[in-house]
Amino acid sequence: MSSVVNTLVEMGFSKQHAEIAVKKTGSNDVQVAMDWLLSHEEQLDNLASEVPPEPAPSDETEKTDATDLKEHSPSPTASQDSSSAEAKSFRCDDCGKLFRTQDEVEFHAVKSGHGNFSESTEEKKPLSEEEKKEQLAKIEAKLRQRRLEREAREKEEALMREKIRIKSGKELQEAKRRQEELEMKKLMEQKRKEKEEEKLAKQRIREKIEQDKIARKAKFGGVATPEPATTPASPPPAPPPGLRRPRPASRSG
Ligand SMILES: [Zn+2]
Repeated sequence: MSSVVNTLVEMGFSKQHAEIAVKKTGSNDVQVAMDWLLSHEEQLDNLASEVPPEPAPSDETEKTDATDLKEHSPSPTASQDSSSAEAKSFRCDDCGKLFRTQDEVEFHAVKSGHGNFSESTEEKKPLSEEEKKEQLAKIEAKLRQRRLEREAREKEEALMREKIRIKSGKELQEAKRRQEELEMKKLMEQKRKEKEEEKLAKQRIREKIEQDKIARKAKFGGVATPEPATTPASPPPAPPPGLRRPRPASRSG
């Protein structure tokens, strides 16, 4: 910066105006510049707007990537990302995920087992609306899945309980049936025994009668005691008279 500009600024002119005056007059003389400023006061505001603003000190170090920059960031706003080398996030070198805080990194490391992390100048962008929706949909799907699983589990458990109930009911029925069967068998057995005893009793009575009969025979000396004919024997049917007639002997032959 020239000393003329400094002097003019000290005199109360704006730095911008002083620089314009020096440029316009091309002189190192404070007096000349001052004269010019005083005579051009009205035009100065217009002139000031014409003069391009001082170029910001551009980062010379990044000039090597000039071709890259041209390719990737044609818009002037994109240069903001690379202007600062400050680490804005952490990157997992194993899967490429970005994390805003050390806590997130630690959480990811524990969860995934990934162990290689590096600082990144890339800023982790907040989720876009679409990404938020997607994330929400994922969470909802997960919740839905979990609910379905729980319902299925509950259904299965209920079914199992019902099965057990039915089974125990069936077992009870079965036990009852077996008991009835057993009782029926016992009854049958008892009846069979009763019949057997009855049969034996009858036989004993018959034997007794028989013995009595023999005893009476022996007492009365062969006199047949009149016995009631329970089954009267029917006499054999008489042969038809024709068959009785003797055959006539025929000598002729
Ligand atoms: Zn990872």
